[in-house]
Amino acid sequence: MSNRTLPLDERLYDYLLAVSLREPPVLRRLREETAKLAEAGMQISPEQGQFMRFLAETLGVRRALEVGTFTGYSSISVALAMPSDGRLVACDVSDTWTQTARRYWKEAGVADRIELRLGPALDTLVALRKEGTEGTFDFAFVDADKENYLAYFEECLKLVRKGGILAFDNVLWDGRVADPKDKSDSTVAIRKLNDALAGDDRIALSMLPIGDGLTLARKL
Ligand code: CA
Repeated sequence: MSNRTLPLDERLYDYLLAVSLREPPVLRRLREETAKLAEAGMQISPEQGQFMRFLAETLGVRRALEVGTFTGYSSISVALAMPSDGRLVACDVSDTWTQTARRYWKEAGVADRIELRLGPALDTLVALRKEGTEGTFDFAFVDADKENYLAYFEECLKLVRKGGILAFDNVLWDGRVADPKDKSDSTVAIRKLNDALAGDDRIALSMLPIGDGLTLARKL
């Protein structure tokens, strides 16, 4: 028994997956293909994908935003939870990675729900607002360049409706956020986001130690 979050050793993590993971075959194939890339660590963990799908189903997400799509695991997880008329706007800078994503969107049967916008995500988020979508998104997942996390937060907060959820990935950054000696740009940027969210009264807040750390913020 423990009244604090358990550290997961390999045995306990394997157990968690064994008794709870329900990964659709298409996502398993995508995970296996992505594992061959040098950047494989950028993919979210399968139990996190399942949690995001669970969350999106529970919230009844119809309009979703994703900042940082990579090869598509998280977008498919969320899109599978959406109704057929749902819409997910996926932002990424890489044509190469999102070619894989597009292939798997088709395979997962969610291609018609996802609109890919290639380019710097901040430009896309500002453009979306100018298109009149302020306050219309139910859910936003941010998992891109960490240096822009605070800026993504401010833009996504405008785009998400009251009661909508913003989710930020990698907020524990492999433990480096708690190491005062680590002053790398990404670590400093994630700390800045975490500190800013901690005192922000525009949101309700919960930081989950799932995957590499996932912060949920509900717009008040
Ligand atoms: Ca990530």
